[in-house]
Amino acid sequence: VREFELIKQLTHRLAPTRADTLLGIGDDAALLALPAGQALVVTTDTLVSGRHFPVDTSAFDIGYKSVAVNLSDLAAMAATPAWLTLALAAPTLDSTWCTQLLDGALAAIGTSGVDIVGGDTTRSECLTITVTAMGYCPIEQAVRRDSARAGDVIAVTGTLGDAAAGLAEWGHGASDMTAHAAYLIDRLCRPSWRNGLAMRGQAHAACDISDGLCADLGHILAASTVGARLYMDALPTSNALLAYQPDADARQRLQLTGGDDYELCMTLPPAAVASVADALGCPLTIIGEIVAEPGLSLVDAQGAEYAAQTYGIGGWDHFAEL
Ligand SMILES: [Mg+2]
Repeated sequence: VREFELIKQLTHRLAPTRADTLLGIGDDAALLALPAGQALVVTTDTLVSGRHFPVDTSAFDIGYKSVAVNLSDLAAMAATPAWLTLALAAPTLDSTWCTQLLDGALAAIGTSGVDIVGGDTTRSECLTITVTAMGYCPIEQAVRRDSARAGDVIAVTGTLGDAAAGLAEWGHGASDMTAHAAYLIDRLCRPSWRNGLAMRGQAHAACDISDGLCADLGHILAASTVGARLYMDALPTSNALLAYQPDADARQRLQLTGGDDYELCMTLPPAAVASVADALGCPLTIIGEIVAEPGLSLVDAQGAEYAAQTYGIGGWDHFAEL
């Protein structure tokens, strides 16, 4: 199929559904109407085959993940997701493969009402997909990284460490795969982007967890010039992760440092937890507290401190600037 024919085949599935998409795919650029009083919120992420997903990932899962990670970034700002563009560079632009990629992208969009308003395809040696997601938010209600306050609790959505375990389980072969392994791999390939609107007017600071809890929480601590205590016994854990790694230290290490979970990590006043949890539509777990003194400490249920070396993360280099 020639590229032009292919795009024609795919774009009939991308007719605008939103009233504020004034002009979607088919012209030189899209025309989008921003509601009065709202700031445009924009994020972009490139996924490279072999780096951000295993080379044998299915087209559907590549489409799913590339969209989900970008919508997760909008959620982390408490933005209303509205539009996205998708640029694909691939060695071959096979019609079936591209159709499955679009199936995955649309599955990640789900019922959120986001329109795909532009795209591009190019031939390239290396399979690369870039998604730009756009949404909006009242300027004062965007949830940023630099506004955490001492006395906030730290809470995360869903469970932690699953995607890292899924990557470790990758390639073991479908024939003897356990249900737990399949669950972990699904978490890696099809991350659930969360309802960030639940944080609006409630959370002080937030980010999504793409590089691991410690790394991403570290960005909040650095931007807000505060510190944190993390309750190691409180890290939310799936049954699949418990089965994958029964050893508590090794499991907590995955939960602290494993990337790709795309859960939200937020800091908020204790009194706001219940209403945010109600609005989220997924579990919310308190895993720590923000303290005035910079640095990160890991504590057990009795308040005793863990040595960072227990998790093979000696030094906490990214906190050095504090
Ligand atoms: Mg992010």
